[in-house]
Amino acid sequence: MIQRQRLQSYNSPSFLAVTLLFPLTGFFIYGTYFDSNFFVGLAWVLAICVGIMVFFHLRLLHVFSSCDLQKQDHVERGNLLQEDLRKEQQIINACRVKIVNYYQLKNVAERLSSSLTLPDTTKTLSEQVNQFYGHDDLTVILYLFHSKTGELGISSSQKGQLEINIKAKKGDLFDQWIAKTMKPLLVEDIRSDFRFDISKFKMEEDRRLRSLMSVPLMIGSKAIGILRVDSSNEEHFSNEDIRLLSTIADLGAIAIENAQLYERVQDLATRDSLTGLLLKRQLLERLSQEMSRQLVRKKDLAFLMIDLDHFKRYNDTFGHIAGDIVLKTLGMLLTEFFRDPGDLIFRYGGEEFSVLLTDCPKKKAMKLAEEFRQKVAEQTIVLRREKTKITVSIGIASFPEDAQLKEDLIQKADQALYVAKAKGRNQVVGA
Ligand code: GH3
Ligand code: MG
Ligand code: MG
Repeated sequence: MIQRQRLQSYNSPSFLAVTLLFPLTGFFIYGTYFDSNFFVGLAWVLAICVGIMVFFHLRLLHVFSSCDLQKQDHVERGNLLQEDLRKEQQIINACRVKIVNYYQLKNVAERLSSSLTLPDTTKTLSEQVNQFYGHDDLTVILYLFHSKTGELGISSSQKGQLEINIKAKKGDLFDQWIAKTMKPLLVEDIRSDFRFDISKFKMEEDRRLRSLMSVPLMIGSKAIGILRVDSSNEEHFSNEDIRLLSTIADLGAIAIENAQLYERVQDLATRDSLTGLLLKRQLLERLSQEMSRQLVRKKDLAFLMIDLDHFKRYNDTFGHIAGDIVLKTLGMLLTEFFRDPGDLIFRYGGEEFSVLLTDCPKKKAMKLAEEFRQKVAEQTIVLRREKTKITVSIGIASFPEDAQLKEDLIQKADQALYVAKAKGRNQVVGA
């Protein structure tokens, strides 16, 4: 490198001019000393050549320096353009991420709007959140506040593609914080967050928890639940993540409210508003279904017709509203007593109720009905501050033993009930 620089300086016009100066001076001294016009002329020619060379050399230097300046200018412009390009690229990337997010949000909204029932909606919401953040390590938990008690309860929980069981069914200290403050929560590392006393926190053995983000599900100013995502890695979530989770939670809250309204409308159409029991219309539908099912499975089905004894007297003595309380109480006793899966309870009409017991032989149904009759007879009801008792008469018919058609089954149970009434009420009679 140094050698090349030296070479450049030897080749440069200034080196040539300096080397030409020696003969020039020599010729000039020689020409002047020996009075030779030729050598004086030669010296002049050489002097002019040196002058021309120096002139062009200076011109070239000037051109080079202006070229250098231009080059620097271009380099600077290039750098500025590169910086602009980098910024543009960043903006394009951010836009790309936003487009992907909006597209995913659109998918979430579409999936949620196609879910009708509450279990379907809550499952779809946690699945969609899981897909949105797309990480197998993440756990998504959706809590809903109980409409009557206001208690927090898990509605759906998912890790990766699988549903998982969370032991803290009513939420942990982080969920309680959201329930209290109704604000989004981002915890980058649960061990170093001053808001939470981790010493009181008992972590589930099979769940390693390091960071989480959680938002309330709001309908207006009312919270209906909590949507939470947690990770076993610290600092897993950013502010952008929780901002998107809030947007998903807004969509989810509307979908959940719609599903709750849908279920309420369904209930109004299928359930009695006073007792909350299924209506007679449902009985006829369910009877057909259950009878065909029991035929295939070769199992018995028992049908109970239950009627309050002398109910008119309660109405007459305590008033119609007190009569309603009696009906409601009997509805509650029925729900408490016949609680096996497959047991169906209906308000048949007025003060008559019916119960459908699947996989239940007549003998077992008679025993159960007798137990229930006794339970009702022992129950004390306070009407207008007066303690009173009620009794019921029960008629039972069994499928396929007593009847093969649903109308016949109802009629047989009704006849048995009539016999119970005729025999003095407060008793169980089989068809
Ligand atoms: P029995 O022992 O023979 O069944 O006598 P009962 O008085 O229970 O039967 P009855 O058929 O004579 O009277 C039924 C009464 O139930 C008449 C009706 O006013 C009352 N009732 C029907 N539906 C309702 C209701 O929704 N609320 C109230 N409070 N009373 C009702
Ligand atoms: Mg009656
Ligand atoms: Mg009656």
